[in-house]
Amino acid sequence: MENVVSARIVQLQVLDPGEIRRVQLLLPDDVEIEGRRYEIHDTMRPGTAFLAKPWGGRTRKYRRRMYTRSNAANIEPRVLETFINDTHLPQSDTSPWWQSREAETWYEEEGIAVRVTIDKEAGIATVYENASQCKGANLRLEPDGEWEGRRLVCVAFGTGVTPFLSYVRYMAEQEWTKSDRKGDGFLTLIASVRHERQLMLHQDLLKMAQELPQHFRYLPVLTRSWPSDWSSMTGRIIRSKVRSSGEEQIDPTPLLELVPNLSQSDLRMCGSVTACRQVTQGLKDYQIFPLTVRTESW
Ligand SMILES: Cc1cc2nc3c(=O)[nH]c(=O)nc-3n(C[C@H](O)[C@H](O)[C@H](O)COP(=O)(O)OP(=O)(O)OC[C@H]3O[C@@H](n4cnc5c(N)ncnc54)[C@H](O)[C@@H]3O)c2cc1C
Repeated sequence: MENVVSARIVQLQVLDPGEIRRVQLLLPDDVEIEGRRYEIHDTMRPGTAFLAKPWGGRTRKYRRRMYTRSNAANIEPRVLETFINDTHLPQSDTSPWWQSREAETWYEEEGIAVRVTIDKEAGIATVYENASQCKGANLRLEPDGEWEGRRLVCVAFGTGVTPFLSYVRYMAEQEWTKSDRKGDGFLTLIASVRHERQLMLHQDLLKMAQELPQHFRYLPVLTRSWPSDWSSMTGRIIRSKVRSSGEEQIDPTPLLELVPNLSQSDLRMCGSVTACRQVTQGLKDYQIFPLTVRTESW
């Protein structure tokens, strides 16, 4: 049986009306299951997703959905933060609901169920995370001692920035701000969204890049519209066109201009299946092979 705990929504901030919201769920200290109390332990690794049961606006029932956590368990234990977008797909159910007025009023009274794993012997309930091992198809951060020396290039499309927000917050807390650690680890974050309002934690990331230039570079990209004083990149980082033969031609030049040393880097990608596939295909066509590649798409 799946065990859940009721979390309270403590933040439901609109970034782009009807499109993207920042959501924070607060878990209680403990939970009672079958008459027994379990202390809740939050040991989620950066880059993993939790499982919640939001309401489906279309199907009018609770659904099980994964959300990648955007904050770090060691900094904000039991506060599960994520960013949720409306997919605008015909089958979309919970994603438009999160953007609705109903979501605002609903959870003032109701909680939202979040999955936990019970350890009866230890008497603890641990927040469930979607990936327990680092694999090519997930973004669970490598164990401590393995990520510090890497040169990571993280490419995010839309809310695909969530795992990388968790990475940079964790890395800053664990390593980057310690004056005695001078490792050459570096993270470049490319965050591609349609317009400025959709940039998630934009000011925080700008500040972090300014404070930690030896470890972190932040490259926001706007694809549809941008302010006249916008100085970062505009347009798509991967261009795709379909030839008259029906064959798709992909040009990764804009991405390579942003990160010319991609073959000496560890590439991490997150976002829509199409966008991530196009990056993979474009790099392959141009014979660019990063040291390692890991991707999570949804
Ligand atoms: C590991 C992971 C992490 C994620 N992290 C985030 C995140 O940080 N932020 C975020 O916004 N989203 C995230 N998602 C996506 C999220 O879980 C939801 O899938 C998304 O919000 C859309 O939800 P939805 O209910 O509107 O639609 P869907 O999840 O697409 O589901 C709607 C309904 O349609 C059905 N359905 C889906 N596809 C089809 C199809 N092709 N044909 C027929 N029926 C179909 C589903 O079974 C469901 O009943 C993540 C997903 C995963 C797997």
